[in-house]
Amino acid sequence: MRIDIITIFPEMFEGPFTESIVKRAIGKGLVDIHLHNLRDYSTDKHRRVDDYPFSAGAGMVMMVEPVDNCISKLKSERHYDEVIYMSPDGELLTQPLVNQLSMNENLIMLCGHYKGIDERIREHLITKEISIGDYVLSGGELAAAVLTDSLVRLIPGALSDETSALSDSFQDGLVSPPVYTRPREYKGWEVPEVLLSGNDAVINEWKYQQSLARTKERRPEMYNLLEAKSKK
Ligand code: SAH
Repeated sequence: MRIDIITIFPEMFEGPFTESIVKRAIGKGLVDIHLHNLRDYSTDKHRRVDDYPFSAGAGMVMMVEPVDNCISKLKSERHYDEVIYMSPDGELLTQPLVNQLSMNENLIMLCGHYKGIDERIREHLITKEISIGDYVLSGGELAAAVLTDSLVRLIPGALSDETSALSDSFQDGLVSPPVYTRPREYKGWEVPEVLLSGNDAVINEWKYQQSLARTKERRPEMYNLLEAKSKK
């Protein structure tokens, strides 16, 4: 998978991409991430990428031309499956959407700033708009890093135990069961007896029941969906 990120703050991705699973996946050649500084595509001598909005109103707006220059150059080099704009009013990022996007080869992610981007970019250049939640960030960089991380960990070979992505929350419409590690007892706080039984069938059933109960309690809307499906 190849991901091209268009941003005015490429350095914000240091950290998210230089540690842990994403770092390892890049190192193994499983994902190719390219950061493009939008200012490099400005034709203005001060490398400006934003301007005042038409009509009154606070905040600057990102201009069409630098974004078009960058996206056009990338598109002339290869086919992109989606050109994504990170936006608070976009489709909410959920595990099913991540699963679906993980099937793609080449993705562009555009990070907005200020008051947002000129609407004509969204009309003519963007194919998908994604929000990471109903709150407003100051820029699209953190959102693009979240989306990238969620995608990279699904690439076969990115996680050391490949099955572990499948047993994560949301993959089967359930949240994960609780997990424990040694010691068996700490300050009188005990690990559930069943996990020490060594009986895989019993343990798996316990985990499943825990997942069900937690989903019912913490994500009732997800639980209702599951119940509705099982009644069909
Ligand atoms: N005025 C805009 C918000 C602009 S915030 C509005 O009210 O919709 C600046 C940039 O941050 C946006 O262009 C977008 O790229 C990014 N951003 C903010 N919140 C986000 C969210 N929840 N999900 C994804 N991107 C977000």
